[in-house]
Amino acid sequence: MAEVIEHTLKLDQKVSIITGGASGIGEATARLFAKHGALIVIADIQDEQGQQVADSIGSERCTYFHCDVADEQQVIAVVNFTVNSYGRLDIMFSNAGILSTSKQTVLDLDLTQFDRLYAVNARGTAACVKHAARAMVEKRVRGNIICTASVAASRGGSSRTDYVMAKHAVVGLVRSASKQLGVHGIRVNCVSPSAVVTSLSKRSPEAAKKTMELYETLSSLKGIELTVDRVAEAVLFLASESSSYITGHDLAVDGGLTKLPDADDLN
Ligand code: NAD
Repeated sequence: MAEVIEHTLKLDQKVSIITGGASGIGEATARLFAKHGALIVIADIQDEQGQQVADSIGSERCTYFHCDVADEQQVIAVVNFTVNSYGRLDIMFSNAGILSTSKQTVLDLDLTQFDRLYAVNARGTAACVKHAARAMVEKRVRGNIICTASVAASRGGSSRTDYVMAKHAVVGLVRSASKQLGVHGIRVNCVSPSAVVTSLSKRSPEAAKKTMELYETLSSLKGIELTVDRVAEAVLFLASESSSYITGHDLAVDGGLTKLPDADDLN
């Protein structure tokens, strides 16, 4: 906190919702946003974990609200709760996401699994963008929407077809929404991380280490690996005035990924 105060607080009193804020990238972003003066509502389905994160940040700055982004009514509820509590919504970080439960190719695509993943990763993101934008337009807030896509949003994969498709959809949403909402002064962007160790893939520590080693060989940058804090810094950049003329952008946070890894290792 001390070293941040010496600089300017980049999100002073900005009211933000972070979906998937109970763990991983969302949690790291909530903590960084708090250090920069934001007021945060964590929206997640992991109630105990989400409440713990909110408590550890401090109730004066952070609240937990149960919200399954696959249910539009629950997205409306968290947006209404935020606006009623703080008077407006400045930032939506639509980040909640799940990984395919099996590594299917198009030949054995399990459409029930496909629907569930789409409901969270694509439809859920659309609901968050829609209702955040409506709240911003209503209150005439020149707000900021950031989504979490993935490096899987810009290439095909040899498996996990549903995940790759849904992340492409997120980038399409960001590009369209940025065109439609620019007239209201609302910016819409996304971050596309490569592999970062979180609970998402539920890998063993050994498998996670192997993935990170693989990514080092595939990335231009050497001697550094992607962490949730590095992704959070990119989100902060897009949420702050530092990126005030950037919209419709997909910001790769991938160390200059040069070669195509197998989709089994992509998130
Ligand atoms: P994570 O599992 O640590 O966090 C995801 C959070 O989303 C969890 O807290 C989970 O409870 C929440 N969530 C899941 N379904 C939800 C729902 N229906 N409604 C509300 N919340 C829900 O994983 P993470 O890696 O931090 O994932 C965050 C985002 O980053 C996801 O969109 C993921 O696709 C994306 N991503 C992750 C990686 C990676 O390597 N970890 C790479 C690229 C993109």
